[in-house]
Amino acid sequence: MKPRAFQYHAPESVGEAVGLLEAHGDDAKVLAGGQSLVPMLNLRLTSFEHLVDLNRIAGLGTIERSSGTVRVGAVVRQAAAERSPDVAVGAPLLARALPHIGHFQIRNRGTVGGSIAHADPASELPAVALALDATLEVSGPAGVRIIAADEFFLSTWETAIGDGEILISVDFPSWGGRCGFAVEEIARRHGDFALAGAAVGVGLDEDLRVVRCAIGLFGVGSTPVRAHDAEVALTGGASIGEAAALAAADIDPPGDVHATAMYRKEVAAVVVRRALAAAIEEACL
Ligand SMILES: Cc1cc2nc3c(=O)[nH]c(=O)nc-3n(C[C@H](O)[C@H](O)[C@H](O)COP(=O)(O)OP(=O)(O)OC[C@H]3O[C@@H](n4cnc5c(N)ncnc54)[C@H](O)[C@@H]3O)c2cc1C
Repeated sequence: MKPRAFQYHAPESVGEAVGLLEAHGDDAKVLAGGQSLVPMLNLRLTSFEHLVDLNRIAGLGTIERSSGTVRVGAVVRQAAAERSPDVAVGAPLLARALPHIGHFQIRNRGTVGGSIAHADPASELPAVALALDATLEVSGPAGVRIIAADEFFLSTWETAIGDGEILISVDFPSWGGRCGFAVEEIARRHGDFALAGAAVGVGLDEDLRVVRCAIGLFGVGSTPVRAHDAEVALTGGASIGEAAALAAADIDPPGDVHATAMYRKEVAAVVVRRALAAAIEEACL
């Protein structure tokens, strides 16, 4: 099928894009990589009279690493971030998550910002943003706002981005010291959205004790979920198995045609256990 007719806009500045969103209100939608929006338009699951394409706006397509942070512009392609040395060094958890997204054709067009703004709870990148305590910069009619990741994801496909606002960039904090990262997920086929997954970071002290832990779960609720109790337990001396069981105990996943709620809960424990083991092993190297 073809989408309903729409007017295409290609603004060259954030101000121009925000002005278009303000002028057209609910009739307008932001277009980034189009890998989620265009299929929905083509299937006529949704329609908009105006599409505001962000891809010609200078400055939204860059990756910058400074001390302590990797800033990824909203329209940086997932494939570009996957190949970026700055992401590999400064935000290894993001680098680990990217290859799990769909297929390379999707990642060649899909953007980091689009995945996070789309806020599919089964997506990898929202869970990475949550686990790393990323901060998100949005720009809109009232100016620029910085939103913490734990306040950004409100529900399935729903975020704290307000009317007329655009996600501009995402800051992923870099971890120092002896640390390791891993992403584990279970999907029916390679490239499918995960039934359940975990994005994990750990930091070890000189005696190889876990002193820092971050666990972001995806595919297990209406938003990505941070497994706080499991993190505290692991840094308090619990075993990997105990922490994984705690992470699964705290979630209330949905059941659907792809998997039952109980299956997702069991898989969540498995992926957390595997991810923690892999991250700790890497940190020990
Ligand atoms: C076959 C297939 C398999 C896939 N598998 C996976 C997978 O396994 N894991 C996964 O995470 N994703 C998967 N995806 C989705 C893919 O990652 C998309 O690229 C991503 O979800 C959306 O990014 P986009 O740049 O394409 O955004 P678009 O499709 O252009 O936009 C998506 C939504 O976000 C909004 N938006 C985009 N950018 C901004 C912004 N800067 N500010 C405000 N709003 C914005 C748009 O208005 C729209 O509502 C898959 C897609 C396909 C087609």
